[in-house]
Amino acid sequence: MTSPSSERSFQSVIHQLVAGSTGNYATFYLMNTTRNRNGWGVTKQALEEALPTVIKKPLGCGPDYKIDKHYPSPMAVGVFTETDMPGSYALGTAKISDDFVWGELKAGRWGPISVVVASYRETCSKCSESLIAVKNPYDHDCIKNKDAYMISHSFKFKRIDLVDDPAYPQAGLQDLGGSAEDSVLVPLELCASFYESQSTGQANVSLNHVGIEKKMDDKEIEQLQARVKELEAAAVTATDDAKKLETLEKEKSDLEAKVKELENPDENPEIKSLTERIAAMDEEKHQSILTACVEARFKAGLATDKTVEAKALEDFDNGVLKFMTLEAGKVEAMKRANNESGPQWKYSPTGQTDLEASMTTQRATFGFPARKLEATA
Ligand SMILES: [Zn+2]
Repeated sequence: MTSPSSERSFQSVIHQLVAGSTGNYATFYLMNTTRNRNGWGVTKQALEEALPTVIKKPLGCGPDYKIDKHYPSPMAVGVFTETDMPGSYALGTAKISDDFVWGELKAGRWGPISVVVASYRETCSKCSESLIAVKNPYDHDCIKNKDAYMISHSFKFKRIDLVDDPAYPQAGLQDLGGSAEDSVLVPLELCASFYESQSTGQANVSLNHVGIEKKMDDKEIEQLQARVKELEAAAVTATDDAKKLETLEKEKSDLEAKVKELENPDENPEIKSLTERIAAMDEEKHQSILTACVEARFKAGLATDKTVEAKALEDFDNGVLKFMTLEAGKVEAMKRANNESGPQWKYSPTGQTDLEASMTTQRATFGFPARKLEATA
């Protein structure tokens, strides 16, 4: 005796392809715990319990690689070896044994799957009434009135086949940088939206179970219209972004033109006067540094005529002048110290006389080495 069950199906999609040393692996986004695009859902616990039944199930497709629907005798083109449930969604990985199928998957031409499950316990999401014995749950009042959907609390995976689906987000297939040969993926968000949203390509029909087409009901059409609105909103955002980019490009080229002008100041009187003003400021600064230097050297006894000294130093850089000013200050300080401490104390760090020391310092300010003096000892 087997417990009564209902056969249910849903569509989902490839998530990742990895070519490894032990074979080619395709990971599919199997399910999540929200309402799927066939209008039913599963509990998290049911999904957790059902997931192991995926292992060792073949991945199939129709004879001669037909993928328009489930076929009674599918070809096995791979086998499921691993599952994962990182959150409220489940992944299943199949080792692909068929080279043609692997090529189609890699090219992004194939990717959607149709999954059939045996569901053992089903309730209405609104009134919790058991629906397992109900011949057609879509006739249940709450579900018919579009304010509820069927939830499976217990199910097993029966078969997983590659199918064709116009809603497949092929554009979402992304090479993973660097090892583009080895790994491509469809972002999880796209997988989830494929699993949940109605097929936009299939006009007024969607796959129900096992290749049987059914008319879309009002609720489904409503959802489809909502999705179209979402897409339209996304398109508006995209247009805004494009406009922003255009404005930025324009600003950039304006700025580049301005930079060109700046590089050629003669063509711009405003810039020319600005340049002249900057030059004048520089000259003013140089003069004040030069004056300070001459004053310091005069005070230190290193110069006797300020005008002659200024003339001699006027071509030196500001940095050199500042250094010379500092050195002149030290010489002056030495002299003062000598005078105050009397004849017993002489500043003579290298055994030089006062005059020699000041000459050495002065030479140093110009970057010359100390002069070789006649031996005094
Ligand atoms: Zn109900």
